[in-house]
Amino acid sequence: MKYVSTRSESQAVTASQAIIRGIAPDGGLYVPDSIPAVDLDFIRGLCGMDYRSRAAAVLGLYLEEFTGEELAAIAAASYGDNFDCPEAAPLHILDGDTAYLELWHGPTSAFKDMALQIMPRLLTASLRKNGEKRTVSILVATSGDTGKAALEGFRDVPGTRIMVFYPRDGVSQVQKLQMATQEGSNVNVVAVEGNFDDAQTGVKRIFADQDFANVLDGRGYFLSSANSINWGRLAPQIAYYFSAYCDWVNAGRVRLGEPVDMCVPTGNFGDILAGWCAKRMGLPVGRLICASNENNVLTDFISTGVYDKNRPFHLTSSPSMDILVSSNLERLLYCLTGDGQKVGGYMRQLSGQGKYAVDESLRQAVQAEFTGGFCTDGQCREQIARLWQEHGYLADTHTAVASRVLADIRRREGQSRPTVVVSTASPFKFGGAVLQALGVVTDETGPALVDELSAFTGMAAPRPLSGLGKKAVRFEKWVSTAEMEQAVSEFLA
Ligand SMILES: *Cc1c(COP(=O)(O)O)cnc(C)c1O
Repeated sequence: MKYVSTRSESQAVTASQAIIRGIAPDGGLYVPDSIPAVDLDFIRGLCGMDYRSRAAAVLGLYLEEFTGEELAAIAAASYGDNFDCPEAAPLHILDGDTAYLELWHGPTSAFKDMALQIMPRLLTASLRKNGEKRTVSILVATSGDTGKAALEGFRDVPGTRIMVFYPRDGVSQVQKLQMATQEGSNVNVVAVEGNFDDAQTGVKRIFADQDFANVLDGRGYFLSSANSINWGRLAPQIAYYFSAYCDWVNAGRVRLGEPVDMCVPTGNFGDILAGWCAKRMGLPVGRLICASNENNVLTDFISTGVYDKNRPFHLTSSPSMDILVSSNLERLLYCLTGDGQKVGGYMRQLSGQGKYAVDESLRQAVQAEFTGGFCTDGQCREQIARLWQEHGYLADTHTAVASRVLADIRRREGQSRPTVVVSTASPFKFGGAVLQALGVVTDETGPALVDELSAFTGMAAPRPLSGLGKKAVRFEKWVSTAEMEQAVSEFLA
């Protein structure tokens, strides 16, 4: 299996090369030249395995240069004690037709851990396979969740360094503390004056500086990124769709082979694209429900075939979905058409005019597999309260968006099909919004909200969040965007 660019102008590469490069030289994203197919016997086999073995089995179909033993060892190390339950991605069965796939039992309490706990190991193994001797230095600009998850994933991984930039006034207090207290001997965290775009632009400028790359090369370093367009982040996410299906079969609710819908709270389209890959491989998935918050650019795209980011940007209570350019959609468009020229054209229109319209057959192909929907912050809060009152189930704001969109679809259709709702964050990570939804008035801020939510619900908070207020702050430095490169240079001296 080779990996090709969605814009077809770059050479095909191996899986390990795709993971090392992240993005293709022509600006496209890497996708496998064919999606591997599995049958029900394969899925029956997975049903008898634990999460790490399921992950290794699914990854093995995409990463042919890795041996089964190698992937088993990598998966075991990635989904072990660092998760707060042995299942790693447990399925919480809510009622006869609804189950919540909880992807937030890892060290940073959000679903990014499912990929970022394993991706550093895939990356370092890929570097070895390609004879790379230099130390890889990961640079990340983050609006919150990704930075912390990447820090936890790369901390103390031999042969790596990681530096995270976050906007000084653009992340929540909990998110800031999570990063400022980061442990590990190969990590660094710096705040940047400005907003997320300023931090992101600064990082892109550093990546593009060839003279600086040469200086670092002389010191034995090269720069790379860990963002969600890297195939090494996407591939591990395919496994949990299989895992959820198997758990529901094992629970006796779903017959092996019976289709199940998947409802996914979506921002950058990475999570739901992994679900689509699982379906294309042969997992019995009915439709994929793409749930958005008020930044509903994808809802409109799915219903009209027009992608238009020229619209107001809303700051919502589900901030990890506050995105107007969903990068991984490019992968879907390529996989549905196999036409890199066409996809490259759409992407040029998107960066030029902020807008493109797919042709009629592509629109129909998208609609055949995806249903879009969105809800407002008010509806999201209502749903958190409803889930808590009717089921005693506590959902975070992102999960509640998906839950609400599903509820609206079921009401409209007057029936319900078995559906897995993908739950992407611990409610304690967004404690302020969850408390508000539950009608609790509080003056507390930051980490104290974690304890307050715990006291109100009688539920224990994830340990890394409840201990946050007591941890020593290690990183307090902040710089202007002009000083970012100097900060990297000092870190990689
Ligand atoms: C990143 C994130 C999402 C969105 O996932 P995408 O892969 O970007 O679509 C949803 N919820 C939470 C909590 C996240 O951190």
